[in-house]
Amino acid sequence: MAKNFKKCSFCGRPESQIGFFIVGMDSAQICNECAVQASEIVKENSISKSNLPSLKKEQLPKPIEIKEYLDEYVIGQDEAKRYLSVAVYNHYKRLMQEKLSDDVEIEKSNIIMVGYTGTGKTLLARTIAKKLHVPFAIVDATVLTEAGYVGEDIESILTRLLQVADYDVKAAERGIVFIDEIDKIARKSDNPSITRDVSGEGVQQGLLKLLEGAIVNVPPQGGRKHPDQKMIAVNTQNILFVCGGAFDGIEKKIASRLNTRVVGYNAAKGSDHIDKQNLLQYIAPQDLKSFGLIPEIIGRLPILTYLEPLDKAALRRILTEPKNSIIKQYTKLFKMDGIDLLFDEDVLEYIVDKAIEFKLGARGLRSITETIMMDEMFEMPSKNLKKLNISLPYAQSKIEKANINRLKTA
Ligand code: ADP
Repeated sequence: MAKNFKKCSFCGRPESQIGFFIVGMDSAQICNECAVQASEIVKENSISKSNLPSLKKEQLPKPIEIKEYLDEYVIGQDEAKRYLSVAVYNHYKRLMQEKLSDDVEIEKSNIIMVGYTGTGKTLLARTIAKKLHVPFAIVDATVLTEAGYVGEDIESILTRLLQVADYDVKAAERGIVFIDEIDKIARKSDNPSITRDVSGEGVQQGLLKLLEGAIVNVPPQGGRKHPDQKMIAVNTQNILFVCGGAFDGIEKKIASRLNTRVVGYNAAKGSDHIDKQNLLQYIAPQDLKSFGLIPEIIGRLPILTYLEPLDKAALRRILTEPKNSIIKQYTKLFKMDGIDLLFDEDVLEYIVDKAIEFKLGARGLRSITETIMMDEMFEMPSKNLKKLNISLPYAQSKIEKANINRLKTA
């Protein structure tokens, strides 16, 4: 066949007007442009069809079951665990109610968790995600700005959820989103009209729409880099939002509401039944308002819970007790090389003490252990040894030689 008689079986254009052909059976051929279009049609169709299996009541993990699962990975934080377990269970029940036909409509109860950084908020969210049968996305509120400013649009929160759900819109619409660092979008000044508060109140207003339940046009690739990407409409009515934040300094707001002072050396114990060391436990919605969240947002996050600060005993437990604790992970790494790894008890105490001394919290446990173990991890696989014992003098020598500043940024 002469070259210029070749034409696309779909658009009919000859080879001279297109890039190249993909040839099929019986001299059928498709040009590169039609192939791209065909691929898009396939993608769109698979987006509109959900292959999410329906939820069955018997399969739902009960709150106690969810909490027990969390207990395996997260130390302490009982109150937050209970709130989360109930909220997630109710979320499932709410998803199932659509099939029931009575008039009682269960409303969703979005959650807000307040707790110092490194106390387990994200860990709780991640762990619960493993137990769930719905898509779960973690997003960071710090990157959000009002539309038109440098940063991410609010809608990008849902992009992440769509991606996790493999662009199955129906599945994403019943998912759970964890919004981390929600405190970073608090209103910065008491008088918002003086300067434009790009990353504060405007973002909260945008977020409100999502929390309330709305149909939102979501850029499937996120960001603003692809202005001509086709938007996907997502209904947020059934999406559960869990927010977390450190709310640095909120104790002062709590204290002033409780009419007490944060510090007071001689405050007699029990004189007023207020535990001044842990004021977060008294957190109330009005404290979030004083911190700079708008009342409408607070109203849409009806479940407010807190995380305990981690004391020495908690850090010590974190080191060894969780199912995938740091020490268990190192033991496994060495086991894979046929080496039995053993830490002396005082080494574990030392790691905890250093994490407290450097004010690194639970996050520091890993970087300190890593520093102690680095040389052995480098050398042991080439030595023909079956056992490794980490003693206190050895651990001390590694930490003393290390650059503390590097540890602090970990
Ligand atoms: P947050 O989100 O509150 O800032 P993370 O959940 O990211 O803190 O915690 C940082 C790391 O510290 C976790 O990956 C985990 O290794 C450890 N960690 C923090 N809190 C706990 C906890 N309560 N139980 C077990 N590990 C914890």
